[in-house]
Amino acid sequence: MATSTRLFVTQDLTPDQPVVATSDQAHYLGRVLRLQAGASVILFNGRDGEWSATLSEIGRSTGLFTLTEQIRPQIGSPDLWLAFAPVKKTQTDFIVQKATELGVSRLIPLLTERTQSERVKTDRLRATAIEAAEQSERLDIPEISEPVRLDRLILEWPKERTLFVCAEAGTAIPLAEAAQARKSGAVGFVTGPEGGFSAAELDFMHQSPLVLPVGLGPRILRAETAALAALAVWQAVAGDGISRPPRRG
Ligand code: SAM
Repeated sequence: MATSTRLFVTQDLTPDQPVVATSDQAHYLGRVLRLQAGASVILFNGRDGEWSATLSEIGRSTGLFTLTEQIRPQIGSPDLWLAFAPVKKTQTDFIVQKATELGVSRLIPLLTERTQSERVKTDRLRATAIEAAEQSERLDIPEISEPVRLDRLILEWPKERTLFVCAEAGTAIPLAEAAQARKSGAVGFVTGPEGGFSAAELDFMHQSPLVLPVGLGPRILRAETAALAALAVWQAVAGDGISRPPRRG
């Protein structure tokens, strides 16, 4: 089923108020998609639901949308965080893209002893998340936090939020079992870098009463595989995996 181009905008979506396209959006719509004035698009901003709109004006770097009607009310994504140790650029973008598709509400780049890239370009990660949200028909964008060190993350973790650490070593409960036991409320996952957590980091986390070490099977997964496997299992067992895409009948 062909669907109109979906775009994330930051402006309010209210009837009778035109929405201004960014220059990147105008370039994409006009130059890449070669859309003309009058074309239909779909807009969302994470607050006002999803709206059908018409591209009323399009220029080299300018564009204007006229709202038609709200086609979906705003509903939030699951309260699901992922703190992940960044790996190489492509794989980090892959984690952000897939985690957005899988419905995370917050992505936290995690600095551990063996994290390779200390410099994390959160602007690039946010652009990747926006593109993935547009494609996956989400109604919001995950928050991208500034990088945080592992010890600070654990010490400042909200007490009411379940904290699953994907532990490749030491004792751990199979994630599906842990998810069954903790089916509701706010939750977050922590995954380590390519080099894994250090013994000191694993000890530190095992000592925290908040930390629930979970296992993802007998094989050692790449960092990007582990992050997505954990999110997919959680969503299937305890998240919104039972829901269906709303605009596919
Ligand atoms: N270099 C480490 C080693 O050889 O032990 C492996 C690290 S793995 C590439 C990156 C991260 O993925 C780990 O820190 C952990 O968070 C997660 N991970 C990988 N395999 C896992 C498993 N079987 N169970 C739980 N977590 C796993």
